[in-house]
Amino acid sequence: MTVTRRAPSNCNTQAVNHGNSQARRRLTALFVGLALVTSACITGERPTLTDDTLPSDSAPAVTIGEQAGVGESTEGSAPTDSLPLVEPDPSAPALALITPTGVIVPVLETTEENYVITTPCGGTSTLVWGTPIRQATVAIDPGHGGSEPGAVGPNGLTEKELNLDIARRTARLLEQQGITVVLTRTADYRVPLAVRAEIGNRLGSELMVSIHHNAPNGIDSDTPGTEVFVQSGSDESSRLGGLIQEEVVAALSQFEGVEWTTALGAGAIAVVNDSGEDAYGMIRRPEMPAVLAELGYLSNASEASLFLTDEYRDVSAQALATAIVRWLQTDDPGSGFDVDRTFNPSGGTGGSEGCVDPLLE
Ligand SMILES: [Zn+2]
Repeated sequence: MTVTRRAPSNCNTQAVNHGNSQARRRLTALFVGLALVTSACITGERPTLTDDTLPSDSAPAVTIGEQAGVGESTEGSAPTDSLPLVEPDPSAPALALITPTGVIVPVLETTEENYVITTPCGGTSTLVWGTPIRQATVAIDPGHGGSEPGAVGPNGLTEKELNLDIARRTARLLEQQGITVVLTRTADYRVPLAVRAEIGNRLGSELMVSIHHNAPNGIDSDTPGTEVFVQSGSDESSRLGGLIQEEVVAALSQFEGVEWTTALGAGAIAVVNDSGEDAYGMIRRPEMPAVLAELGYLSNASEASLFLTDEYRDVSAQALATAIVRWLQTDDPGSGFDVDRTFNPSGGTGGSEGCVDPLLE
């Protein structure tokens, strides 16, 4: 496989004003900057990022997620001293921004003075510095975060942590194939569903995949209880869901000795409420083909033990990346479709109530 390091041709790569350089933090780690270029179309100060100075293909590829301090459990804080911070340029508006603390936010407007952003909690604020993003083919949404841990395994593993780790690994695999990726959450902070969707919508991403792990326990099963929720009435969302269902179930079935659980009718399915709308916000809100993948049951002790391992996280990320590439590059239909379901969520998570923004600068 040839690893492409070059940003896509539709990226705006115009030079930026290098004034006020004393206020600008410099790129200090080449591999970090490399990762930013391969993660999404980020413009600005990157004088070292030519093919001549790039490390070999075996150099570490670091995702935006890693850059943003993923793995630290502190709410929001994500030091990013080596990010290339860029002044706002209204002639080249940003669509999303990596804030100086590594949080990715949608940009409402780029003025002469600042970036007008939507904060993770859905408020409006301004930032003077940031790293603009103008394109990302794939949006990956690590479910939950901050005060919303999602499911918690009997071993204490939280869904928010697991989802984010797999999202980062998936992003890295896609980047290695030259596919640009944005994460809707880069560390341990709350992001309401509306803002997650807005990040992908603003960037015009071609697809969005929300990564989750299920609870409570289903029924005992010989095979993984993977479920992928798709947009009703969207053939391309169904195809993406079918490809993810196919790849993830095949990949996880390779693990031996796991006591899987499942729900009746698990598969790639649409889930609608009594009004006939897609039941889940991360299915309903994105303006592109989107799916929500429940890879397995974190509430099940046997699966939770597996989910702690690097092997599981690598295998599931590889399956997701393979499915996404197949969706982008083939007409494969996918498989694992089952009967659509009616469900009326009780709400309670995913909104902005009680949301506390992380530090943004
Ligand atoms: Zn979840």
